[in-house]
Amino acid sequence: MPPIAYLECTRCHAHISAETPQTVCPQCPSQPAGSLFVRYDLSRLKGSNVRDVVAEAAAGPWAGMWRYKSVLPDVEPVTLGEGWTPMLRSNRHRCAWLKEEGANPTGTFKARGLAMAVSLAKHYGIRKLAVPSAGNAAGALAAYAAAAGIEAHIFMPRDVPFANYVEAVAYGAHGELVDGLISDCARIVQERKQEQGWFDISTLKEPFRVEGKKTMGYELVEQLGWEYPDAVFYPTGGGVGLIGMWKAFEEMEEIGWVQPGKRPKMIAVQSSGCAPVARAFEEGANVSTMWQDAATFAAGLRVPKPYGDAIILDIVRASSGIAMAVNDDDILASILDWARNEGIFLSPEGASVTAAYDKLLANGYLKPTDRVVLFNTGAGLKYTDMTAEAMKLKRPATQ
Ligand SMILES: [Zn+2]
Repeated sequence: MPPIAYLECTRCHAHISAETPQTVCPQCPSQPAGSLFVRYDLSRLKGSNVRDVVAEAAAGPWAGMWRYKSVLPDVEPVTLGEGWTPMLRSNRHRCAWLKEEGANPTGTFKARGLAMAVSLAKHYGIRKLAVPSAGNAAGALAAYAAAAGIEAHIFMPRDVPFANYVEAVAYGAHGELVDGLISDCARIVQERKQEQGWFDISTLKEPFRVEGKKTMGYELVEQLGWEYPDAVFYPTGGGVGLIGMWKAFEEMEEIGWVQPGKRPKMIAVQSSGCAPVARAFEEGANVSTMWQDAATFAAGLRVPKPYGDAIILDIVRASSGIAMAVNDDDILASILDWARNEGIFLSPEGASVTAAYDKLLANGYLKPTDRVVLFNTGAGLKYTDMTAEAMKLKRPATQ
């Protein structure tokens, strides 16, 4: 694992030391302050054969996403087996691969970012972590914090998927259910963190969740034989995975592990019940505006204004991709379609992506021969209450 060279602000490009824990850029001239990215000296890897580097790591104790340890911070992992999830080829769309992130610990992609962030928190000796969450990040933090012996303080909307509530209680996390959305939860963390001594591990307000999520970018390229697909579809709430994957592509090109100039179109998908990034994209805006009355059963997409909106929009445009929204009826229809025809129970967020893929095939934006990766960011089984409600399915009466 490489030492961190420095942290770089995504807005003012200041270089910040990683010797002590950092949140957002302390030198930004304007608000909101920029998120910090981890930078390494990658020159030592130039000329290396990526297959050898990764195979050597994976042959040892470095399972899952830690097979990419050569491009991750030098830290003792707090691991529950995250990463290296299946890449499943669709039965019907032979150029579409589903990246099944439901196979992660706690059943979602959030495991990657929080495994990394909690590993670094332990390294720094941080004792109390706090997170506002639409649900799955809270569950993942609760698990990794328990594994690390660190306190987790989590804040979720009251109507969060029931599984998120149950796992938080089971893992012994502190926190509460909030009347409102993730933005209301974020305000509570902001107001109380100083007095309570919490370290805020919110999306893009610390540098390491992106480092964990970026492994999805390395992984999808490795699983396609170290070649880029034509497009990557990503359900976009906070957008950290999309941002992380783009960072991975930059790093791979800098090292020389893939050919530059052929990056995939990044397709950011939201629900029409909460689509601040898609609306900003359509309007040609550089940032989003707060979405009012956000409502969708794709709980992870109920993020009315992502902190990283400007970065997401930049990436989508740089990739010649698009940000788009699909409605909840189409999401439910796609859950049933994939369950019945592919044997895969998608999360509502994942089904937003498969629904979007259908639309972009139908309108000719993509051809059936374009190679695409569709992210199912969580296991459908974490959403049985939300999906049953959308299906109007009632629990059978018992005696
Ligand atoms: Zn800055």
